Amino acid sequence: MQDFLALTLAGDTPAARCGETAHCRWMWWDEGVLQLIPHRASDRPLVLSAGIHGNETAPVEMLDELLNEAHRGELVLTRPVLAILGNPAALRAGKRYLSDDMNRMFGGRWQRFPESGETRRACVLEHCMERFLSGVDAAWHLDMHTAIRGSYYPRFGVFPARATPYEASFLDWMRDAGLQALVFHRAPGGTFTHFSSDHFDAQSCTLELGKAQPFGQNDLTQFALTKAALRALLSGVPAARRDETPLRFEVASQITRQSEAFKLHMSAQTQNFTAFTCGTLLAEDGDTVYRVENDTEYVLFPNPTVAPGLRAGLMLKTIA
Ligand SMILES: [Zn+2]
Repeated sequence: MQDFLALTLAGDTPAARCGETAHCRWMWWDEGVLQLIPHRASDRPLVLSAGIHGNETAPVEMLDELLNEAHRGELVLTRPVLAILGNPAALRAGKRYLSDDMNRMFGGRWQRFPESGETRRACVLEHCMERFLSGVDAAWHLDMHTAIRGSYYPRFGVFPARATPYEASFLDWMRDAGLQALVFHRAPGGTFTHFSSDHFDAQSCTLELGKAQPFGQNDLTQFALTKAALRALLSGVPAARRDETPLRFEVASQITRQSEAFKLHMSAQTQNFTAFTCGTLLAEDGDTVYRVENDTEYVLFPNPTVAPGLRAGLMLKTIA
């Protein structure tokens, strides 16, 4: 179908809920949720999501362009795809979220938040994932975001904690998609990718692609490598191999805002992956003091304004 993004942003439903092109059959499952099944699928299913945060528009535009290419037959899908625009209400408002951050709510955590558009949407998306991924072996899920802050490595992937190692082909794809850093969680979380990994054993990654900008102001050439790798993935061909190996990090600790007294000792300009040396005071929260414990740690997603109880930053260390 055409104009998936435009219809979603307008709050419209398509005249027909399903249809066919020469190469695939599509079905509109819900606002911002579109399933595409190629007439001849030869590869494993893929969930491609964007706009879980409504102000992160570049990957939303990229996803829409890829779907339009598939609709016009310029890109021939070889795998079932579930395309998701995560938070349509926040996309319309140009805001990260309207009530609460949806990417903390998955895995049923939405039940712990006051009921809102976001808690209802997280529940709907969990059901859509269940419908698409139940009984499917080792699907891939790429959840595309842009960071709030600038980053020393503008393109990076964040991987949910999982019991078994990631497939080599999944990590190789990240390299070929132009990612400069790979960050591995060591604890569960309420992210969309943790949910798909934990519940359906998907190979899942949160892709962070540059810095958040409004619709129309994104320099999509910055994402050309990632888009080319996505196009290759959708068409069942290997992505052009790149030689640069992404740096690898794991989460050493999380800084959590517990109270109104929370103070983050970083400037509003501190970029993702800024290095801090052992002993540096990072944050204070009443009697709780956060300091760097390893020789060098790197900050990711510093955000002092989160709601109490939520993550105000991650500290990373490199993996040898
Ligand atoms: Zn995001």
